Amino acid sequence: MKQILITQEIMDMVQKYAENLFTDRTDAFVQPNEGLVNLQMDIMELNPSLSNKIDFMAYLEKLIDDFEELKQLLPSKFEEYKQKFDDLLAPSFLSTIIECRNTRLPEDRAERAALPVRRAKFYEEIVDRIRYEEARPVMASYMEKLGIQTCVYCNNAEAVYSDKDEEAYYHFDHWKPKDKYPFLSICFYNLYPSCSICNGHKLDGRKGSFQLYTEDEPAKDPFVFYVDRSEYIARQPNTLSVSFKSRESRNDIYCEEYNKVYRIKEFYNSPGGLRQVSKLITDIDKHRGSYIDATNSSIPDIVDKDVLFHDVLGVDGDEANIFTDIKKKLKLDTAKDAKLL
Ligand SMILES: [Zn+2]
Repeated sequence: MKQILITQEIMDMVQKYAENLFTDRTDAFVQPNEGLVNLQMDIMELNPSLSNKIDFMAYLEKLIDDFEELKQLLPSKFEEYKQKFDDLLAPSFLSTIIECRNTRLPEDRAERAALPVRRAKFYEEIVDRIRYEEARPVMASYMEKLGIQTCVYCNNAEAVYSDKDEEAYYHFDHWKPKDKYPFLSICFYNLYPSCSICNGHKLDGRKGSFQLYTEDEPAKDPFVFYVDRSEYIARQPNTLSVSFKSRESRNDIYCEEYNKVYRIKEFYNSPGGLRQVSKLITDIDKHRGSYIDATNSSIPDIVDKDVLFHDVLGVDGDEANIFTDIKKKLKLDTAKDAKLL
């Protein structure tokens, strides 16, 4: 819903992520490079029917060579790298079922031959071997540093979950999907905190054009939530409705696509969503009428915007990062529309 500008500060942070990602592991941990080299060995030794083995080898070779860079590859380079990888192995081969073994292989050929063999899709094996599952909790700690707690697509749910052991973990969406861009599976700028509904695998490539990180000046907040209050004022709260519109007509198509892909109207107009909106409007009206007027008439300009937003909306008024609170954008847009301040 809002873009984050890649500043020097963020780039420094991402460099630390890339450099330190798996440095604190024990010897039992198979580092990505070892896993990838062993996958090359599996390709050669176990897949005699694969006619273009050389292409698979070249793909893996490039992945190994560029690995340090890929962890912090800037979004503007994604397509350039996609082309380089596609030139080595045609994209249709990424889903090829291959035979493979453990990520750690013994040096002795006879010992290797005794290992159990399993079948997997080539790209899935890459994601596994560059240790996405192990990178995920590390990414989570960086998301906390960035203050991102909610789904960056809908801002309607937390991207943080607690499992049965009360361990908090993040849901990430691969902005560029794993089956086509496996080399970006642990790239910092390709992992977007998202709720399970917005998570990529359910979108089947209909992901729209939302990009969280940008190297240019972020697009000026192109969308706005609008709550139709007319019926509400007429004391028919059941007819409340929330719309999500573009500020300028040239963004209408983009907004429509966003609405559809991320189900914005659906989420916010659900019975639970509307109950919250109804309470929000009541709170805004209450404060708008009495508190501000009374405070301002006795001591002008005493109203502290931050305190007011916190008291009325339950969020801080800082619009820069809407990903800290669920429905923060809806709350801020509604408060502005109601001229709370
Ligand atoms: Zn979501």
